[in-house]
Amino acid sequence: MKLSSQQAPAALLAAATAVLASSSSASDLPNSACGCVSPPASHLFAAKLPLPVCPADILDKCTALTKAGIANVLTPESETYKERTLTYWSLTSQLTPWCIVQPTTPEEVALAVTTLVKETSCEFAVRSGGHFIWPANNIEEGVTIDLGLMSGTVYDEEKKLARISPGSRWGGVYGALEPHGMTVPGGRASTVGVAGFLNGGGNSFYSARKGFACDNVVNFEVVLANGTIINANANEHSDLYQAMKGGQSNFGIVTRFDMQAFEAPKLWGGVVQWNKTATQQAIDAHVDWVTNHDKNINDSAIVFWTYQPALKDTVIITSLVDTQGHAAPPAFDKFLGMSGNLSSTLRTATHKELTDELEQPAGYRDIWWTGTIKNDRKVYEKVLELHDELTTFMAAQSPDGDFITQAMFQSIPTVLSRHSEERGGNVLGLDREPDNVIMLLFTLAVNGEAQERVAREQMRKWGDGTMEFARGVGAAVEWQYINYAYDYQDPLTSYGEANLKKMMDAAAKYDPSGVFQTRSPRGFKVSNRSGYKLN
Ligand SMILES: Cc1cc2nc3c(=O)[nH]c(=O)nc-3n(C[C@H](O)[C@H](O)[C@H](O)COP(=O)(O)OP(=O)(O)OC[C@H]3O[C@@H](n4cnc5c(N)ncnc54)[C@H](O)[C@@H]3O)c2cc1C
Repeated sequence: MKLSSQQAPAALLAAATAVLASSSSASDLPNSACGCVSPPASHLFAAKLPLPVCPADILDKCTALTKAGIANVLTPESETYKERTLTYWSLTSQLTPWCIVQPTTPEEVALAVTTLVKETSCEFAVRSGGHFIWPANNIEEGVTIDLGLMSGTVYDEEKKLARISPGSRWGGVYGALEPHGMTVPGGRASTVGVAGFLNGGGNSFYSARKGFACDNVVNFEVVLANGTIINANANEHSDLYQAMKGGQSNFGIVTRFDMQAFEAPKLWGGVVQWNKTATQQAIDAHVDWVTNHDKNINDSAIVFWTYQPALKDTVIITSLVDTQGHAAPPAFDKFLGMSGNLSSTLRTATHKELTDELEQPAGYRDIWWTGTIKNDRKVYEKVLELHDELTTFMAAQSPDGDFITQAMFQSIPTVLSRHSEERGGNVLGLDREPDNVIMLLFTLAVNGEAQERVAREQMRKWGDGTMEFARGVGAAVEWQYINYAYDYQDPLTSYGEANLKKMMDAAAKYDPSGVFQTRSPRGFKVSNRSGYKLN
């Protein structure tokens, strides 16, 4: 049976609600901080229960946390609160919660969650690196649990494991491992956070060699909604272990990731910029690259067309990396033979150095869209035709002319999913794809809320137009990458029915009160996917 985005299979819902109904962990405790009442156990999901809103006094909402003994509770007037807010990558996520809690240990994370659940009716958000591009990681009327003080990587030499705290960023992780000659697959921009990246999959320079980054996590330490701290790995809580590899924030808060590290020589690679006159050559090179990616698993090639406000024009950028350090390997011949070269940073460098240069400018309001297509050059051409229409439209109406686009193509070879399976499997569902496919990422960065509204509309038009065309030529793939998906998309459904069931079962088993569905409702939730509501 194919799962439509309009309805959930009754069997899945029945299974999930049966476990939920048997729960008795939520109580009718009077709420000492807010004067509100916590949700009764029988009213487990937001669709059933409009939660009472806490009163407006900030002190009331956050005193429960300080009274519980949590030291770092930041209120809006504090400088650290303001600094932390500014470290969200996209302005769209720079909201103003009633307070920001900064735990320093897993036990304090547990205390924050249980206090918020038992002593208040407040909603809360969880934030690690803060790079997710819409506010799944923050909340306007509620409390944000910010894991920024839980940062650092410890290398276990004997087991070759990197034990990574959840508030870490990838640059710090690589920096800690490089003195040991080791690395892990992670973000390609060094400031990206570890936790959001890993719970959504994680596409890295090493994907064709190692699978998604999440496939290289051998153990998640997780704080559950009831405050219990457990390990999820191949032997303990293996159902949760699998669900956490792609299931984002549906099950608990991860307080440590243990990742399998491997020896890494210096890499060879960098960023090459081309005149847009090389468009047909770039399409040829990438189509060829995707076709042969299974044979070139040590290499990574991304191509994107980007409108740059300083140039008032579109240029092509290729990010080319050989993870074994071979200079200009034959796999890149077609890219390197393109004409219209504008600049190049290709050289031998460390993993960290290459990720330092792939940063994208922060400080905009960012709208993204993602989809997946088969390797069909007709779709590339359609994407770029629509991109041209979009940039012309945006330039004509943008008050300051300051907007940036990206039309990015990333190969997802079948060998990637084989690595995922070898490492215990995830819930992303890409193993269903018989062919090498292309993950599309469209981005639009603008200034101001009015332009954001325009950008949302334009982005949907671009994304919808692309998939409609792809369907017409038999090149559409239903999969959506959760780490790139915008709030109007439905990545969890795109993983397929069997994976959805695994995630719903894990959510119901490890969070029977539905705390991470209703009290921490931001993000993509198994119980609240677009197109259907659990009720
Ligand atoms: C400049 C840039 C470059 C990027 N490069 C890549 C790339 O190379 N490859 C790729 O695959 N993706 C990339 N991404 C996308 C990236 O994977 C996501 O934005 C990811 O969510 C970032 O992780 P974070 O820790 O910063 O997330 P946050 O914004 O902190 O959180 C994201 C989600 O995870 C939840 N969450 C956070 N911490 C925890 C926790 N400890 N336990 C449970 N849930 C938690 C949050 O509640 C939220 O729902 C990039 C994004 C940007 C902006």
